[in-house]
Amino acid sequence: MILQNFKSYFSMREIYNVGIIGGGVSGVVTALQLSKHGIDSVLFEQQKSVVNGPPFCHLHAGGNLYPDISVAQCQLLMKQSIEMARMFPESIDERPTLISVPKTEKYEFSNLKQRLDMLVDYYKSLIAEDSENEILGAPEDYYKIYTKADLERLTELPSVKQPKTSDQWMTNAIKFIDFKKLKMPVILVQEYGWNLFRLGAQAQLALNKTSFCDLKTNTNVTHIKDVRNENLDYNWEISTKDTVYRVNYLVNSCGFKAGAFDEFLHLNNEHLIEFKAAYVSKWDAIPGLIPELIFHGERGTPRGMVQLTPYSDDYYQIHGMTNEVTLFKNGLVKSQEKVQQPEFDEAITEKLTRGWEPKDIKARTEKAIQLVTQFVPAFKSAIVGGPPLFGAQQIPGDDPNLRIGEVRFPCKTYARSEIVKASSALTVANQILDEVHNLGIVSETQDSNTENTLLESIPKKDIDALAEGLAEQRGYPKALSRLLIERS
Ligand SMILES: Cc1cc2nc3c(=O)[nH]c(=O)nc-3n(C[C@H](O)[C@H](O)[C@H](O)COP(=O)(O)OP(=O)(O)OC[C@H]3O[C@@H](n4cnc5c(N)ncnc54)[C@H](O)[C@@H]3O)c2cc1C
Repeated sequence: MILQNFKSYFSMREIYNVGIIGGGVSGVVTALQLSKHGIDSVLFEQQKSVVNGPPFCHLHAGGNLYPDISVAQCQLLMKQSIEMARMFPESIDERPTLISVPKTEKYEFSNLKQRLDMLVDYYKSLIAEDSENEILGAPEDYYKIYTKADLERLTELPSVKQPKTSDQWMTNAIKFIDFKKLKMPVILVQEYGWNLFRLGAQAQLALNKTSFCDLKTNTNVTHIKDVRNENLDYNWEISTKDTVYRVNYLVNSCGFKAGAFDEFLHLNNEHLIEFKAAYVSKWDAIPGLIPELIFHGERGTPRGMVQLTPYSDDYYQIHGMTNEVTLFKNGLVKSQEKVQQPEFDEAITEKLTRGWEPKDIKARTEKAIQLVTQFVPAFKSAIVGGPPLFGAQQIPGDDPNLRIGEVRFPCKTYARSEIVKASSALTVANQILDEVHNLGIVSETQDSNTENTLLESIPKKDIDALAEGLAEQRGYPKALSRLLIERS
């Protein structure tokens, strides 16, 4: 009888080398890297599908959306973005980004230019290390500057349905932009779009295929127990509603919920959590594709940065870094020494757990459209295109402007992923992999390949189908799962 209970309580599988809680981009990339090196894991995700947390749409390959961050951070963002784009090429939308500074703003073009030149040199050095790193086009085309005279000349040219060159992208965009409001010059940079539905689909298909990962979706982890001092063959017990899983190494990749498991372990981890949203709109068909448009501005003020991200089939996603659009009153909360898992207020918690009221979707999306209209007057005809893409993320420490978080190892055989940008996921996964090796959890494995053959074995048509299914299942237009620029 006792043996029977033991069997139904503990997982039938013996002991997993690694247990990962949270199937966001960090958790799935960790599981994929472990699989690539032949290390078994069990991955728990409480939602129906993976990569279902806060959204991402921009591959920050150079940090050009953040004029205040250091050159070192821009370089790291570029390096990490290239690594992730190489891992998930089917999720990358190769359209450029227009960077502009409104006349009302403090940023000066000369500072941006200096930084861009350093980024070009850095990009060249990455290509010199490995020619496969050339995923942002030729280094000399990484950015292009446009003066007022250049823009006036381009407005006279016809639109190009499928632009290929920087000038063609700029020609299409500038017809719609009130550039009298902008400081001159403006810049077109090769920072691409990044499709979360496609990344999620490819990761889920690959994890279902590999025998090295036991993917458990719809599975909420309720408790963890540290048994490192109990002289057992394993170090941690991970409890779900009806089963306990035994693992040697524990990875907490719960995103903004990571603090909940620190509380069980009485660990102190100073961090912030932030709730943000981006809005889905539909605009009239225009004659040619446009780049992503960035109008810089001071975060949290009524002039906060405006970001218009083009998707397939005339859908556009909008971020506006004002308290009325992307940011929220009480949307940034700090952990306390005795309360490691900070809580949002009732209004935000309601959105996170039950979704949005239709009246809030309409009100905020319309405010977002209005923000864009300041710079793109014709955008006033845009309408609500679907529910917002939203979510909460963690920010380690106490600086809400931090852009690169990585991983911490607060105690032996325990890793906490603290990524701020999705692009840091592979760096974190590789550090966890090293730690698993260094602690002797598994003996050294040999895999010097930079590519992930498991991911590469997933056919494009399967990614297309599942990405579309994920968008639909989550209530978004199917078009959001497609790329603007079809990959050859
Ligand atoms: C509006 C917005 C826009 C953004 N845009 C970009 C962008 O353009 N580019 C970019 O690089 N980054 C962007 N980010 C940041 C990016 O979304 C995050 O860095 C990234 O999603 C974090 O991934 P993660 O895996 O650490 O966490 P998450 O994605 O939050 O994953 C954590 C997972 O853990 C699961 N989980 C939690 N608790 C449990 C439990 N008890 N049991 C089982 N599962 C559990 C959750 O369901 C979730 O799926 C944006 C963030 C926001 C909010």
